[in-house]
Amino acid sequence: MPEATLTVGNVEILSLNDNQATLPLQDVFPEVPADAWTPYQSQYPSGFSGPEHLLAHFECYLIRSEGRTILVDTGLGGAASNPNSVEAMVGGVEGRLLDELNAVGVNPGDIDTVFFSHLHFDHVGWNLLHESGNSPRPTFPNARYLAHRADWEVFQRPEVIALFPPHWDLTLGPLQDLGVLDLLDGEQTLTSEITAIPTPGHTPGSMSLAVVSGGQRAYILGDVFHGPAQITETGWKFSFDMDADQGVATRAAIIDRAESENAILAICHHGGFGRVARADNRRYWQLIQT
Ligand SMILES: [Zn+2]
Repeated sequence: MPEATLTVGNVEILSLNDNQATLPLQDVFPEVPADAWTPYQSQYPSGFSGPEHLLAHFECYLIRSEGRTILVDTGLGGAASNPNSVEAMVGGVEGRLLDELNAVGVNPGDIDTVFFSHLHFDHVGWNLLHESGNSPRPTFPNARYLAHRADWEVFQRPEVIALFPPHWDLTLGPLQDLGVLDLLDGEQTLTSEITAIPTPGHTPGSMSLAVVSGGQRAYILGDVFHGPAQITETGWKFSFDMDADQGVATRAAIIDRAESENAILAICHHGGFGRVARADNRRYWQLIQT
């Protein structure tokens, strides 16, 4: 069932949890001293698994707007598209997105758009079905799959493929051969209520969705943030950010924008929906109940 639901004007957003895993803080934030985490572990206990591990969610989002059904990211995927080498990075966790969709009465064929926040393995896992003896086919047979061109190009580079084998061949490359891929070059309107906006840094083609409807605003942020501590500590760098300095700049800009607009935020690897709150001249994540 959805981990959280949100209505933004006429837009409905369901947060679907593909799974969760523990990540060693020292591996994913190597520049942040261990004791710097202490206040955030008290403030956001659900975001951690013990004193030394982040509890990372793998959220996908189902968005309904103007008759469209948009899926944001496809999670870790099943065993066929997420073999041992990739699973090991997140502790052998396998995704359950298709069960989550089924639980909310959505068939894969109902989805008309798959939008990628970026192309890391934990956001594209359910793209394709691999059945023995058959060529891969789109898991979402009626959908166009939308990716930023900059990510599409960089994730084909041998040095990037070497980091996450064999996810290009299993989850990405066949999309182009199957004719279901559309590449975006920058800001793009998906519906009159939903716009894809570049939020680079984590990857060069990272994008977020700006949702504006009925006088309300929300941002679906992909991996701009890895947990709520970065709402306060926008300078903390995540180890898999391809351009860490650009990531810092993007976080600062989006927080300024979200705070000034009183917008709701979704952080893929944290789960739930929240706003930017301010106390003692510091900004922090305030979960909203949905
Ligand atoms: Zn991610």
